[in-house]
Amino acid sequence: MRIINHRLKGVDFWPAHFTGGEIVPEIVVLHDTAGRLENGNSARYLASENTGKASVHFVVERDATVRQLVPTNCRANHAGRSNYHGREWCNGFSIGIEIVNPGRMTGDASEARAWWGETFSMRDEYDLAKVATPEHGDGVWMAYTEAQITAVISLLECLFRDVPTLTDITTHWYVSPGRKVDTNPLFPLEHIRARVLGRNDPADLEAEKGSDPSGDETVEIETHGDTLNMRRWPSFNPNVIAAIPDGTVVPVIRKGTFAGRKWLRVLYGGQEGWIVARYAAPITYHNT
Ligand SMILES: [Zn+2]
Repeated sequence: MRIINHRLKGVDFWPAHFTGGEIVPEIVVLHDTAGRLENGNSARYLASENTGKASVHFVVERDATVRQLVPTNCRANHAGRSNYHGREWCNGFSIGIEIVNPGRMTGDASEARAWWGETFSMRDEYDLAKVATPEHGDGVWMAYTEAQITAVISLLECLFRDVPTLTDITTHWYVSPGRKVDTNPLFPLEHIRARVLGRNDPADLEAEKGSDPSGDETVEIETHGDTLNMRRWPSFNPNVIAAIPDGTVVPVIRKGTFAGRKWLRVLYGGQEGWIVARYAAPITYHNT
């Protein structure tokens, strides 16, 4: 695969109706189509003058067919209201990839019903699982095909090689928490991020760059009885890794200001994570 003049060579280009002005893409946002599985169905909808005014750069079918609908340097309407590490409206700086999948279904893992009424059964070799996560809630979800995952990885590797401004891969549920649940919980996001981005997680690097090491400091959590969320990165995206009880005393590793808010990187329960600084009071030890 190769991007030349913002177009992926060798794949069909179905020009989308809703295409915006020029952008400099910095992240890739992954989605589910939450629609029928027939090849071309969602891509046709996303290319058309549809009622949702939706469009996207790429669609990946269950059989690994990739189609492009919007050039990589133009805005597409895929993320809507969204926030990536404090930056709003991701359509202005992202490439969207829609992966064909029915989205959240009801029923159980042997037979599930999609929102448009079609049922999918294990007997027909659909790989279904009933899974609940804090980000997705409860549901029955369909696994992506191997061919689809392989095609997504190839497309991402191509994009990260040929679009040098790209720095991160994320999902719609991550940038629109509480509003969106795609990609589904069966999507191997961390595996794909590690594979395409290498070991240095860009979100970790950004947090490192925007902060300074603390001195020999200790703080006490002050939340008036509540617990305080410790987060993997200094942002309110869904990235909570622990809940620290009120009154806990923790050492501070780093300090930084992100999106106008002061954060502390602390050590708790054997792992490091970020907390909002205003819920932590510095401890002064008195010599008696
Ligand atoms: Zn989406």
